[in-house]
Amino acid sequence: MFGLDAAILMNPKVWEASGHTAGFSDPLVECKKCHKRFRADKISPTPKSDFGVPEVRLRGGDGNEAVRQCPECGGELTEEKQFNMMFKTFIGAVEGTASQIYLRPETAQGIFVNFKNVVDSMHPKLPFGIAQIGKSFRNEITPGDFLFRVREFEQMEIEYFIKPPKNDEDWQTVFEHWRSEIHGWLESIGITAGSLSDFEVPKDDLAHYSKRTIDIFYKYPFGDDEVVGLAYRGDFDLKNHKIDYYDEEPKERFVPHAIEPSFGVDRALLAAFCEAYTEDEMSGGKRVFMKFKPEIAPIKAAVFPLLKNKPELVAKAREVYEMIKKEIQPVVFDDNGNIGKRYRRQDEIGTPYCVTVDFDTLEDNTVTLRDRDTGEQERVKIEELASRLKI
Ligand code: ATP
Repeated sequence: MFGLDAAILMNPKVWEASGHTAGFSDPLVECKKCHKRFRADKISPTPKSDFGVPEVRLRGGDGNEAVRQCPECGGELTEEKQFNMMFKTFIGAVEGTASQIYLRPETAQGIFVNFKNVVDSMHPKLPFGIAQIGKSFRNEITPGDFLFRVREFEQMEIEYFIKPPKNDEDWQTVFEHWRSEIHGWLESIGITAGSLSDFEVPKDDLAHYSKRTIDIFYKYPFGDDEVVGLAYRGDFDLKNHKIDYYDEEPKERFVPHAIEPSFGVDRALLAAFCEAYTEDEMSGGKRVFMKFKPEIAPIKAAVFPLLKNKPELVAKAREVYEMIKKEIQPVVFDDNGNIGKRYRRQDEIGTPYCVTVDFDTLEDNTVTLRDRDTGEQERVKIEELASRLKI
């Protein structure tokens, strides 16, 4: 697997070859009454607000035409028109159609157009992958649901290149391998298998480049929706960019096929947030905490002196903090407020462990180690701390 950091602004011919200029669009409708705009395929069957119109919003017009109603005010909607989601800008000092370029709507095309660079410099043998993490931009008609649909987001995409398959089994095996890798990764960041489901995109709905696509859905609070996509793109992209590969072994030239796991970092993060959010009872009150797996917790441990105004405790706590910091990162030091409040603050951040230095520490070199999930506290020798906290 080779890492890549391609350009955000690329020659517009890239997007012509990939099919984005002609086809990367969503159906747009506008309300004739309130003039709000919506993505036609995302209008839910039940109105969001109660504006006193019947619930069925698709009614037969004259002939076979369906007339939809605005989900906000019940007004009549315009006909669908295709809205290209690529952000446009201009390159150089002259603004005009000749200098118009796009902000990339996906990282994948940067991988395809750099395929030859990777092959020429690294001489990889098939199968191999090229992976890229980076910002993508889409002029979404209706952004929303917090991080789920934003106009500027982070993608992690892999193009895994294989020899042209001789039969369906050849690519299906690789496809299944990546399907299980995707699930494995999502589970590694704390998303339980029960919150995920695989949606096989029906043949008629497949994107222009795809021979098979599975969307991996997460059970978000607002409904099941895509967190990762997996597509078999065949030789569509390399062929359109007129790029091929020379295989030394049978001494032949051909266009490799690509299997593409496409992760949305923001959507994965939102899923990890939803999964970690936990409410329970502690010390007779409600507690809210983030039950992150230690691997993804933003802070791995917090160190507290029991009292702020006892220099000997503060000095010892600092010493412990400096020691842990060498082993795991990030670790925080906090001496602000009573100890219970400090625990709760770390619970909300999702810090798996808190370490408290008290008067006993000065006598016997032990500290209190408190577990985020259970609230349980135990005495641990300072020299054992690092191995206890290691992830
Ligand atoms: P949707 O149907 O929800 O618009 P999509 O099928 O167009 O998504 P892809 O083109 O397959 O999405 O993009 C790959 C991944 O990039 C998605 O699985 C998702 O995680 C992420 N992604 C796409 N659009 C957005 C967005 N507007 N905001 C955040 N993440 C996004």
